[in-house]
Amino acid sequence: MSRNLPATPALEWSYAPSREASEIVELERRYGLFINGKFRAPASKKYFPTINPANEDLLAEVAEANATDVGRAVKAARDAFEDGWGEMPGKERAKYLFRIARMVQERSRELAVLETLDGGKPIKESRDVDLPLVAAHFFYYAGWADKLEYAFPGLDPEPLGVAGQVIPWNFPLMMLAWKIAPALAAGNTVVLKPAETTPLSALTFAGLASEAGLPPGVINIVTGAGATGAALVEHNDVDKIAFTGSTSVGKQIATALAGSKKRLTLELGGKAAHVIFDDAPMDQAIEGVINGIFFNQGHVCCAGSRLFVQESIHDRFVEKLKRRLSTLRVGDPLDKNTDVGAINSAEQLARISELVEAGQQEGAEMYQPDCVLPRNGFWFRPTLFTGVSQSHRIAQEEIFGPVLSILSFRTPEEAVEKANNTPYGLSAGVWTSKGSRILWMADRLKAGVVWANTYNKFDPASPFGGYKESGFGREGGRHGLLPYLKGVG
Ligand code: NAP
Ligand code: MG
Repeated sequence: MSRNLPATPALEWSYAPSREASEIVELERRYGLFINGKFRAPASKKYFPTINPANEDLLAEVAEANATDVGRAVKAARDAFEDGWGEMPGKERAKYLFRIARMVQERSRELAVLETLDGGKPIKESRDVDLPLVAAHFFYYAGWADKLEYAFPGLDPEPLGVAGQVIPWNFPLMMLAWKIAPALAAGNTVVLKPAETTPLSALTFAGLASEAGLPPGVINIVTGAGATGAALVEHNDVDKIAFTGSTSVGKQIATALAGSKKRLTLELGGKAAHVIFDDAPMDQAIEGVINGIFFNQGHVCCAGSRLFVQESIHDRFVEKLKRRLSTLRVGDPLDKNTDVGAINSAEQLARISELVEAGQQEGAEMYQPDCVLPRNGFWFRPTLFTGVSQSHRIAQEEIFGPVLSILSFRTPEEAVEKANNTPYGLSAGVWTSKGSRILWMADRLKAGVVWANTYNKFDPASPFGGYKESGFGREGGRHGLLPYLKGVG
């Protein structure tokens, strides 16, 4: 156990395995590109594997779209836009979105298992968080489709045309929903590129949208790696790019689009401050911190990765947090008891390991509970660092893994100054029993969302997005329609 904690008494009982059956997912051996309502072989003639990161088993081969394939997908989207989708009355578009939302609910068990197989996240998260939010997002934007003139009174909102959308691997289907639902509600058609390591739920969703009767070409899915994303970004006939991913790729995209007429929204990285005042309810705050950094293995753009604890409670809080860490169950993502699943890829594991090593070399003190990790697959123990200073890489750079950096503060002013000392500005959290202090902090924290006495709460009606290097544009809520409409800006 820990070097500086008394040993936790051995648990007298443990959880029996409770594995979700995976037979509900029927995988194809090979997936083509979804263009104009059909799966088709890629012009590139190339395929790449997607694996289960929990055991490294091959799940399927997936087509790699080159510039010709991307061109076909964009043409299909343009034709679908001009052949009717762009002019369809909102109440008709809404019917498709409502149908898709209901079908996502009906097939949510299958989609949750698929998301867990391809990405490594715990089934209890894909089942209880991702899938309900995906359905909620489609329901929410279905409701706006016939009310655009009420959303923007006195204006004449019109769709842009074809939206190119590029998404990351941490919430594959949820990011797809955040992109596709508002775009379609506003009357656009889309070409979407999922991440290389998690393409399967987007492809399955494409089949589901076809079954919902969505006209061919309204949604097109081009799978591939970064080059496929770049081909989509650079295509001449795309009216708008919506990107979620790292700040470095976001900057490349902003440079590529500078001077073009394409509209752009960027949802990028984060390094959120999670601030605990000494009057906070401690046990609830501990749960909030655990959820803030270990949810989805810490592969969360808004993860509470920098913890600021008021000095007077620092030692007690850290002690309790360490005990709580040792009760997290790390392992098989399909087990319904699992709290922390597999790291999404070998590359991401290498990046986490590199930053954690830097933390140790720079002099921070590391704590990891003793837990047995599976033999195959990609794993990282829940980790926390104390004695972190503002200049350490682990306090500055996004780790995107289950690693928490703990710092302290004395006054609210100091907490704000330290919290804002980052190039990012996506999210923040505050724990205190004083309502006035919550408002005072929320006014001063430079973050797109500030949670108070909770963390990682999402709702489709609530806009989400960043300040500074965390990007610009909002997804969710009425604001989430703006990037997909003209005449409203
Ligand atoms: P990433 O490397 O930037 O990749 C994101 C997507 O862009 C992937 O589909 C990727 O393809 C593609 N891509 C890579 N290079 C490209 C290029 N030159 N042009 C166009 N597309 C390109 O990010 P990631 O590692 O997948 O995701 C983690 C990052 O996303 C973190 O920084 C996280 O904070 C951020 N994120 C932000 C939000 C938010 O809402 N703000 C939400 C979730 C995640 P490949 O799959 O082949 O790499
Ligand atoms: Mg995979």
